[in-house]
Amino acid sequence: MKKINFEPVDWNYQEKEAWTCPSHQFQSPINIVNDHAKPMKEDGSLILRYRKKIDAIVNTGYCVQGYLKGVASINNRLFNFQQFHFHAKGEHTIDEKEFPLELHLVHQSENGKMAVIAVLFEIGEENNSIDFILDHLNESEFDNRFNLLSLVPKNLNYYHYLGSLTTPPLTENVEWYVLMEPMTLSKKQLNRLTEIHNHNYRETQEINDRQVLKKIFHA
Ligand SMILES: [Zn+2]
Repeated sequence: MKKINFEPVDWNYQEKEAWTCPSHQFQSPINIVNDHAKPMKEDGSLILRYRKKIDAIVNTGYCVQGYLKGVASINNRLFNFQQFHFHAKGEHTIDEKEFPLELHLVHQSENGKMAVIAVLFEIGEENNSIDFILDHLNESEFDNRFNLLSLVPKNLNYYHYLGSLTTPPLTENVEWYVLMEPMTLSKKQLNRLTEIHNHNYRETQEINDRQVLKKIFHA
């Protein structure tokens, strides 16, 4: 197996106030108020096709990040899968409810538009895929079979809004799809993750004039 070294970044979670922000209008994450979210009229379908093999799992210095190939059709537009990574605690809150962990599935379209699907985690039953990722941290090109969808709920109902990356350069015009149904991991698994990175999250930002939409496929 090949080891990967990740270039150090020039920012950190201890000095978030020093992060340069492009504007304070369309930033992420946000607190989502369910009663303020309007039903989405567009089709909004999410079709996720991820290859069942991980190419690499990296400690970037600020998060645990995994790479694999895949495509997603999001509201009938094609996006290439880029990487997934974890934040602890979770970044988005729903009706002020906080989650201990949040998974981001980062996608990019041919013209550079970013779309992130966020999965919120609660403490509960363990999820074997978390252990798999941590067991293979900093490995690449190893034999494996991994299903990223094992970290994604079956029910893909979501909240959608326009925001930003939650790490520098905090680029805006990122499409967010925050899945409503949380997944679970055990307390022990969360501890394993937070032993590597704790507090690698950004606080919720002002929603300003943005409208959050909600897409309900299944009640
Ligand atoms: Zn993220």
